[in-house]
Amino acid sequence: MNKTGIIFFPAFDWSLGEFHPEREERLLYTQEQIFEEGIMDLPQVRQYSPGVADLFDVLRTQAIYPDLQQHNLDAHLIAVGSSLVLGNALMKKEITNGFALVRPPGHHSGATVWGNRGFCTLNNEAILINVLRTKYGIKKIAVIDTDVHHGDGTQDIFYHDPNVLYISIHQDGRTIFPGTGFTEEKGGPNAWGSVLNIPLLPGVGDEGFLYALENWIMPAVEAFKPDLIINSAGQDNHFTDPLASMNVTARGYGKITEMIKPDLAVLEGGYAIEGALPYINMAIFLALAGEDYSGVVESQKPKHTEIGGDTIRSFLTDLKRTNEAVRPSWVFRKEQFLPAGDWAYSEKSIYYDTDGFKENRREYIRKCSHCGGTVLMISRKPSAFQKAVLVRIPFEACPNCEQAGYDLAETFQKLEKTVLLQNQLRDQVHLWTDGREVNPFGG
Ligand SMILES: [Zn+2]
Ligand SMILES: [Zn+2]
Repeated sequence: MNKTGIIFFPAFDWSLGEFHPEREERLLYTQEQIFEEGIMDLPQVRQYSPGVADLFDVLRTQAIYPDLQQHNLDAHLIAVGSSLVLGNALMKKEITNGFALVRPPGHHSGATVWGNRGFCTLNNEAILINVLRTKYGIKKIAVIDTDVHHGDGTQDIFYHDPNVLYISIHQDGRTIFPGTGFTEEKGGPNAWGSVLNIPLLPGVGDEGFLYALENWIMPAVEAFKPDLIINSAGQDNHFTDPLASMNVTARGYGKITEMIKPDLAVLEGGYAIEGALPYINMAIFLALAGEDYSGVVESQKPKHTEIGGDTIRSFLTDLKRTNEAVRPSWVFRKEQFLPAGDWAYSEKSIYYDTDGFKENRREYIRKCSHCGGTVLMISRKPSAFQKAVLVRIPFEACPNCEQAGYDLAETFQKLEKTVLLQNQLRDQVHLWTDGREVNPFGG
């Protein structure tokens, strides 16, 4: 019998505004449904109380700019901390799987954070993953993101990481926020193929999702052989969701969960708070607990026609062929400040929709056949004339990449106001402001 952990943190005092989709009552109906239907009384269910994440766990994974004190992180730290409670319970074998029903969500929050985007400030799953690696020595983790939006933040954090497979199935970025998640985004030079994006036409429902899972996603996961599978369990693919245009049902979500068999599921989006969330959360939960979810039926009927049958099968077959044909195209750059080695260069502009500003980022990764490679991110918030530098020495870094990280941190301390060194290899974080090392947690 499964032992399924559940943690519920509805953040009833946190919102992005009274009429915002990400508002206090988002999990209200879910709470009623789950508690009133006696789910918590099932013998295989174990309920946990929310926890608060440590700031160190945040900075190991994400650079928060211009500093931690500029953000109101209270609710976010509990959403992360609650995911960690379940992660610890799983590692201690108190549970066989678990569902973190938490908000605010996290998958749009990336490696560098200047504010809130896509309702996310901290990335719950990414912070969790790096805690599990550090604390329990977990090597390989697969993330399957079933939110309707591309999880650009999670992809960003693990883009150069060969030991995290990130798979996202979502509504095509040409038709929805955040406008990314295409087949050519497949991972950096040391991690090629560790990102898989499946952008779908609006209108795809259960049939298309299950077909993609069976014929594409699960074979890719099996080939990767992860030690752990995490599901970013967004629920905005539901046919009633006000922000998106897909056609998945609650039972479809139950079936998706049954196929993925996640060790941990973490709630992401989903904004039909009365018409979808209570049903989907119930179906996911029953599927995790190994119970029958076929009786979970929404009170509303789907409004649009579902794209299914031969149309979706041939669409997905073509998309898979296109994905397989994508070849890497790196730009290598030599700069005075770069230590020895070949450094691939890229740049991106990241839009923070909540507050309406842009981050511009230049990024260098040391090409390496021995480890994930040291990363340098020079990030700017032009509207505030602010600039900050992140250097990341990865988990299991080779000696050359480790040294390159120290060299970069030393060079940039003299050049830039804010420099954060994420030393994942030694499990340390260091922060320099105006050339002086300071306590990254303030005080
Ligand atoms: Zn979403
Ligand atoms: Zn290396």
